[in-house]
Amino acid sequence: AATLTKRYSITVLPGDGIGPETISVAKDVLKLIGSLEGIEFGFQEMPMGGSALDLTGVPLPDETLSAAKQSDAVLLGAIGGYKWDNNPKHLKPETGLLQLREGLKVFANLRPATVLPQLVDSSTLKKEVAEGVDLMVVRELTGGIYFGKPRGIGTNENGEEIGFNTEVYASYEIDRIARVGFETAWKRNKKLCSVDKANVLEASMFWRNRVTAIASEYPDVELSHMYVDNAAMQLVRNPKQFDTILTNNIFGDILSDEASMITGSIGMLPSASLGASGPGLFEPIHGSAPDIAGQDKANPLATILSVAMLLKYGLGEENAAKRIENAVLDTLDKGFRTGDIYSAGNHIQKLVGCKEMGEEVLKSVEGQV
Ligand code: ATP
Ligand code: MG
Repeated sequence: AATLTKRYSITVLPGDGIGPETISVAKDVLKLIGSLEGIEFGFQEMPMGGSALDLTGVPLPDETLSAAKQSDAVLLGAIGGYKWDNNPKHLKPETGLLQLREGLKVFANLRPATVLPQLVDSSTLKKEVAEGVDLMVVRELTGGIYFGKPRGIGTNENGEEIGFNTEVYASYEIDRIARVGFETAWKRNKKLCSVDKANVLEASMFWRNRVTAIASEYPDVELSHMYVDNAAMQLVRNPKQFDTILTNNIFGDILSDEASMITGSIGMLPSASLGASGPGLFEPIHGSAPDIAGQDKANPLATILSVAMLLKYGLGEENAAKRIENAVLDTLDKGFRTGDIYSAGNHIQKLVGCKEMGEEVLKSVEGQV
């Protein structure tokens, strides 16, 4: 029988700082997985961020955005650095990232926080609390108080100066992020906790009603609701109770950073940003780490795990994703550590650089039966 080869085109944006180093390793992992799973990946590497500024004068060239839009998924390294920190807003690398998210219309941001048994000592929490944590924050990314109108600095009726912003969500915005939340929970352990402030905010009451209505489409997923102040507390007290957390833009911004610190290892954490259709954007949560750039010291695992998210949430290639996750665990089991996750444990650890860590992950991918 003829075997059908699946083909995907991937836009690769290495960016700045350690971005090109971790991306080069992650690309190799994707190529190998492709050859083992019968998937063909076409890569198109494009400039983005500070390096694009130096090359073209803008942080997100039109060619980069249109390539990204036409591809099946976008893989980003990291952007920014001291060199561009004093640029005006429209000439900052970070502005390019906002433009990219806007251009791809990605409204859902997925950030896992997993405490791996091999790295439990890196957690900022006590071992008993941290052990076994495996949760996902699904954050609404393009609405809410960060974008709502009216906004500004002005004067009130008494002539006093005021600053004001508006939390506003349309039903379609809540419904679509709720569906991403339910679908994500469904792919995981089928428990969804929607976080809001419905006891105080009308926008949150509306949020809660819509999420509850969408729940009828997903009878297999168990839905609960929690107020955001309680959620912030529970994340530190007993994070194991959470599987998938669904929340709005501002609460998600705060809770996903809080959740990442439970794991304690910024070099390990991937993220995905998804739209309704069209390519998703996959990137590590860490920045460009200019202090260690070009020294082969960066931990490539966050970018490699972003590739796993690209396969699972971007292309629906769950087997290939699982293989990468297993290879990362296997590599850690063997004791390989980059500087950021190196700690005096009771088993032997081997300090490696970015490239060598990548080579070990490739070996582990290949070693799986
Ligand atoms: P952002 O660009 O989002 O503002 P940031 O400046 O807050 O990011 P990062 O660039 O993520 O922070 O890095 C903070 C520090 O963490 C770095 O200086 C670096 O020492 C370390 N770090 C970040 N990512 C990695 C990684 N992948 N491997 C090793 N160390 C890392
Ligand atoms: Mg930075």
